[in-house]
Amino acid sequence: MIDLHTHSDESDGSYSPLRLVEEAVGLGLEALAITDHDTLAGYDQAAGPARDRGLDLVCAIELGTLLTRQGKPPVRQVHVLAYFLNGPPPATFRSWLQVVHASRRDRNRRLADKLRSLGVDVEAEEAEALGRTVTGRPHFARVLVEKGFVGSIKDAFDQFLSDAAKAFVPRRVPPFAEAVEQILAAGALPVLAHPARLVHSRPDRLDGLIREMVEQGLRGIEVYHSDHTAADAGQLLGLAAAYGLAISGGSDFHGEAKPGVQLGTGHGGNLAVPREVLERLRDSAGGRQRG
Ligand code: AMP
Ligand code: ZN
Repeated sequence: MIDLHTHSDESDGSYSPLRLVEEAVGLGLEALAITDHDTLAGYDQAAGPARDRGLDLVCAIELGTLLTRQGKPPVRQVHVLAYFLNGPPPATFRSWLQVVHASRRDRNRRLADKLRSLGVDVEAEEAEALGRTVTGRPHFARVLVEKGFVGSIKDAFDQFLSDAAKAFVPRRVPPFAEAVEQILAAGALPVLAHPARLVHSRPDRLDGLIREMVEQGLRGIEVYHSDHTAADAGQLLGLAAAYGLAISGGSDFHGEAKPGVQLGTGHGGNLAVPREVLERLRDSAGGRQRG
């Protein structure tokens, strides 16, 4: 069994990268990918310990992107997993990530300014102490709760932070096509994360969405995921075959930050991704196999 979708505390998970490696080894996982949001910091910390313990750690990341569709106004937030199956990312990819981080830091400063103009005394640094490289609105929400400005995380979003609330400040999120282009240029495989979540109760819309993403460079889809039913996985297998897409799978483990999802086995044991999934990804990438 393998797990190609997990988060450490370098993004919004609760386990340190080292603890994730140790849990994976303890469980007997045959491979692990740390797919933190918009950062490679978790992977970078885990690489040495994984090597020491003989764990096959796949370099990966989960990028937040905005999908715009030809002739269709609604813009969607889409999460794209990138798997660096041919080796670690080149400097150009890391530089592009730095730009993503800079726009986040800039937004965080403007968000703190706006909050202070509304009488909420918060500094961006207070949120950044919690979130580091990928500090976002959830970290501001925690600061607002801890400082007593609101009673709960939900109140923080409802009153100040949600897209419709009074302190909202937009940030630049990379377009889907730009992120996919960066992933491909870095020699990595772009994979759509948890596709079923994109369409909720309208699975009939998935085909059209995936077709547009394939036209913009998508090469794979996450078929196996804790949130997917057997029917979802079946539909996604069909779409993967129809569009010639690679198949991946993982739990989306976040530790205590997402109770109920277990490393490797998902929601109450609804997941068991076989090692062959990674072998096929590596075969299709023509990449080196780890010894
Ligand atoms: P950011 O990337 O900093 O703009 O923050 C986006 C994150 O904030 C999302 O991934 C959600 O986890 C969280 N979020 C956004 N809107 C809400 C909301 N209305 N209620 C709770 N969490 C939210
Ligand atoms: Zn994820």
